[in-house]
Amino acid sequence: MAESPARRSGVPIEVRGLRKRYRSTPAVDDLSFTVEPGKVTGFVGPNGAGKSTTMRIILGLDAPDAGTALVGGRPYRTLERPLRTVGALLDASAVHPGRSARNHLRWLAHSNAIPRRRVDEVLDLAGLASVGRRAVGGFSLGMRQRLGIAAALLGDPAVVIFDEPVNGLDLEGIQWIRGLLRSLAGDGRAVLVSSHLMSELQDSADHLLVIGRGRLLADTSVRDLVATASGDRVAVRTGMRVEAMTTLAGAGAPTAITDDETVTVSGLPVERVVDLLTRGGVSFTGVSAHRATLEEAYMELTRDAVEFSSGDDGRPGR
Ligand code: ADP
Repeated sequence: MAESPARRSGVPIEVRGLRKRYRSTPAVDDLSFTVEPGKVTGFVGPNGAGKSTTMRIILGLDAPDAGTALVGGRPYRTLERPLRTVGALLDASAVHPGRSARNHLRWLAHSNAIPRRRVDEVLDLAGLASVGRRAVGGFSLGMRQRLGIAAALLGDPAVVIFDEPVNGLDLEGIQWIRGLLRSLAGDGRAVLVSSHLMSELQDSADHLLVIGRGRLLADTSVRDLVATASGDRVAVRTGMRVEAMTTLAGAGAPTAITDDETVTVSGLPVERVVDLLTRGGVSFTGVSAHRATLEEAYMELTRDAVEFSSGDDGRPGR
């Protein structure tokens, strides 16, 4: 893919003031964000948060009630050869079961004026070269996902949109997806990938859009999300718990006794805690930082969105 148009000029996705309501349910509620070229942007939120609806609108499969979704400055529907600009994996089951993987891709290539040789390239890329002649009806869910991804990459698109691509993949497949996402972004493509599980994205995403109940809860780098999460905590092991609390509370930091020999303080870096205790003459036997994990940050952000939904519809991954 060295000749990729993506490398020559980055193509962003720009969503502004997007709204979509299904009867009484606001599926997407005033959503605005930009997906930058050259990055993997994770689109994460509990089930029912509005991720698929947003992706369908970007792909012109659904009309918004308000707002715009542009790819490279244009609505998807106005792109002349859409597969050559945007590759998408939405519902991996939408393939004729009697058709072989290869023929399915050939048909797609033909209808988008993509050279035939590209079919074998993407079969190879997706790890399907050996099963390209088999009927898709006999494919496992994981193989269908791979075929959907092969189809998405057929037109060497500058923008890639994958909805829950890890679904049905085994560990090897998951690792393959992670590497693929990174390499697609490395080519300069804009990569938007959704998941209801933060754990699936935290190692591959550069940037995160967190949504709940159709609203944007965070538009942030992975690192910043962790840093702003419920507050980093430092645990101090000490036989002088009361003195430690008094000293640290004097610096304006919330403190708590968390067990017989531990005081926990929030919002101060480790060096400052050590400094304050030393100056205050408080002896301690250990100091350890507890960094909020991305999973904790995500749970905290989406808690309201999850509580709001009913039944098993709004559960973030555990
Ligand atoms: P996600 O992809 O984050 O799981 P969706 O975009 O699929 O979320 O759904 C967002 C909300 O819109 C949910 O409440 C869902 O039930 C509702 N919804 C999605 N598609 C439709 C539809 N075609 N008809 C009615 N409601 C829908």
